[in-house]
Amino acid sequence: MAASDFSRLIAAAADTIAAHADELTALDQAIGDGDHGLNMKRGFEAVRAETEAIATKPLPDALKAVGTKLVMTVGGASGPLFGTLFIALGKELPPAPDHAALTAALSKAIEAVSARGKSQPGQKTLLDVLQPVYEALAQGKTGTEIAAVADKAADATVPMKALRGRASFLGERSIGHMDAGARSTALLVRAVAEAIEGS
Ligand code: ADP
Ligand code: MG
Repeated sequence: MAASDFSRLIAAAADTIAAHADELTALDQAIGDGDHGLNMKRGFEAVRAETEAIATKPLPDALKAVGTKLVMTVGGASGPLFGTLFIALGKELPPAPDHAALTAALSKAIEAVSARGKSQPGQKTLLDVLQPVYEALAQGKTGTEIAAVADKAADATVPMKALRGRASFLGERSIGHMDAGARSTALLVRAVAEAIEGS
């Protein structure tokens, strides 16, 4: 991937997180501690600040650099999880991946997140968006279709009972609210899918 293309992905991701930070905060206020919007914004602005140094690296190293930066700056439970996602993608992807390589790498990266969080899909977390996104990608869906799958998957966390993270402390009272990490994941998926499709 050309450095200019990776720069656009960083900008698209940081822009959507910044634009939705208040929404993410409100979601996390309902069933968590209300820091998710700020956590994610701090992390993606830190990545944005290093766009040039990151985007000029080969794709695997660029993804690892993004993940490392997110681990260092996002904080909370989600920082290590998003960090793991990007670092694992960087470890698994070749410098110029085709669709098959991307699909295989996403599968491995989701496994890494799942191991890190000791969590599975169905527990009202970001994995509830990542897993259907992987399945849509594996089925050969377009970027637009995958973004729609991600939005629907985030919506589908509303009736779930949280079994991981702070929201799980609320038990049944976590039902009826969207998971903040699922929403931020859907935002990132849409931003990346649209940026890639538009290129
Ligand atoms: P914290 O919960 O420490 O305040 P954040 O608010 O930044 O951290 O992130 C909360 C999000 O992290 C949740 O909405 C959920 O999607 C995700 N999350 C938390 N714990 C886990 C876990 N064990 N596995 C997967 N995702 C998790
Ligand atoms: Mg929180």
